[in-house]
Amino acid sequence: MDDTTRRQVMTGAATLGATAALATPAMAAAPAAGQARGGKQDPRSKHPKPPFPAQSQPWPGLAGQMNPRPDHGEASYVGSGRLRGRKALITGGDSGMGRAAAIAFAREGADVAINYLPQEEPDAREVIDLIRRAGRKGVPIPGDLRSESFCRDLVERAVSGLGGLDILVCNAGRQQSVASILDLTTEEFDATMKTNIYAPFWIIKAAVPHLEPGSAIIGTTSEQAYDPAPDLYAYAQTKAATMNYVKSLAKQLGPKGIRVNGVAPGPIWTPLQVSGGASQGKLVTFGATAPLGRPGQPAELAGIYVRLAEDDGSYTTGNIYGAGGGQGQP
Ligand code: NAD
Ligand code: MG
Repeated sequence: MDDTTRRQVMTGAATLGATAALATPAMAAAPAAGQARGGKQDPRSKHPKPPFPAQSQPWPGLAGQMNPRPDHGEASYVGSGRLRGRKALITGGDSGMGRAAAIAFAREGADVAINYLPQEEPDAREVIDLIRRAGRKGVPIPGDLRSESFCRDLVERAVSGLGGLDILVCNAGRQQSVASILDLTTEEFDATMKTNIYAPFWIIKAAVPHLEPGSAIIGTTSEQAYDPAPDLYAYAQTKAATMNYVKSLAKQLGPKGIRVNGVAPGPIWTPLQVSGGASQGKLVTFGATAPLGRPGQPAELAGIYVRLAEDDGSYTTGNIYGAGGGQGQP
């Protein structure tokens, strides 16, 4: 057991007694090493299956209000020092894939700044608490990524709060299901482009001058980049753009020693889906068409973000890693 793992186990043991009565799955203490890793589980029955209860939340939604609550690895992710001393900024770090990455990065030894919308403060507070309970620095930076000046400010605040930056995860995303192009407003189309395409451009542009050789940029793309759904006309094309900017930037930044990669999730149980991302019909049977018969949980992607950020992945750049439950690409 290395020092980081030992500290996490100690932290988990120390807090378990105090919080056991209040603990929900989302706030469980860090597990002891060996408790969750290894062994073999049936991927079909490891996590909840459809049908899911009908539910809807106002955008952007809260993980804490979902039924069932998503699993971001709160009770299962065990670190082993793979990101010791690293400094990460994750957009959309309050919930979903960003939260799973934030928990994993902290337990792997990184200090983590998260960006989220002010309405998501309850989810964000839980994540900052989890980062701090892993013994790392957690920096909350709320704000709306549709603003270029905020995106520049976000990077400066992350750099000063963390004392540098060497992992950037552009993960925040807007997805609203609109059945017909005739009902898609210019405002909605513009908000999707601003959040999913402009914000990573503004953030990466502000971050690159701070990134030393060995740094990593990760974008969250989607199976939608390759196989777009009819009701996701705006969203799906932004995910194709994400896949594409990852490959372009990898070529541009490789000579500077900066790696750029993408993650392409399949259907994952997150607030984005219950706050307008999926139609109600699709939500109740969410993940049913995947060969594994269920949606993925954010926790099932945490290791991919770690892999793309860590130094052991030093020859991986310009690549997209998937977790699609048996469908989709790459
Ligand atoms: P999520 O709702 O947990 O995360 C999305 C986050 O985006 C929100 O938490 C919010 O903080 C952030 N965000 C949205 N608009 C913003 C804005 N204007 N300013 C600041 N932050 C904003 O859902 P998720 O599914 O974990 O989404 C994370 C990423 O995963 C997104 O890029 C999404 O496109 C991608 N993705 C999701 C799925 C899925 O099935 N859930 C599948 C493929 C890809
Ligand atoms: Mg959220």
